[in-house]
Amino acid sequence: MEKVGIISFVFFLMLSLIIASERNQLKLKSFSDWIIDVASLLMHFLIVPALQVLIVIGLLNWLAPEWKGIVPSPFLASLFFYLLIDYGWYWNHRILHSRTKLWNLHRTHHAPTQIDVFVTSRNLLITHFLMIYFWAIGFAVYVLQDPSIFLVFASIGMVLNFWGHTSFSIPCNHLFNKIISSVIVTPREHLWHHSRENSQCNYGTVINIWDRLHGTFYCKSEHPKEYGDVSYKKTVWNQLFWPF
Ligand SMILES: [Zn+2]
Ligand SMILES: [Zn+2]
Repeated sequence: MEKVGIISFVFFLMLSLIIASERNQLKLKSFSDWIIDVASLLMHFLIVPALQVLIVIGLLNWLAPEWKGIVPSPFLASLFFYLLIDYGWYWNHRILHSRTKLWNLHRTHHAPTQIDVFVTSRNLLITHFLMIYFWAIGFAVYVLQDPSIFLVFASIGMVLNFWGHTSFSIPCNHLFNKIISSVIVTPREHLWHHSRENSQCNYGTVINIWDRLHGTFYCKSEHPKEYGDVSYKKTVWNQLFWPF
């Protein structure tokens, strides 16, 4: 799963370097934003997966060894687990956007005024512990007899998450876009989630049905003009480790 994540990150980064408008945008990134983005990327690919194994799998091994491989895992069980986690993330994400102190724990992700593939992993270290993915993916891998199908779904989700933080949208009227955007979150939708105009929308990261179901789906044919929470002026330390 991590391998797929790294390959998709490198793929979208290469594409961004080839396309002049994207490349120029990367050049405009400030030094402090580069530090936050690269540190977040290292957390995403190295520290968080290691903590997941140590904490989640470690706790399950200690507390419930009899649950290991207890769920037969054909296609449908894996799909059900994945959809359940994705729906859980919809609410998890929506709660992080609530007008409470929890918003501070997600604001780092919304601080950038330009969106590129690096923004995908831009999160505080402690926020990872408040994300359903951290606990539920480890749990699913532990209880499923054969987690390989589940991991394929999780890997696809990871690719879609990296794609969602690029401006590589498929033209609105293209048949392929019409088909996939009826179910899947495409970059256009996630870019609106990062927009200054309306960020209280599109909380889903992979499946957009949850947003459609709960009235939070929002999209326009064009990309937003302005991004980011400009009122958020915090240090590199605050944006990576302590937001209060
Ligand atoms: Zn958000
Ligand atoms: Zn995002």
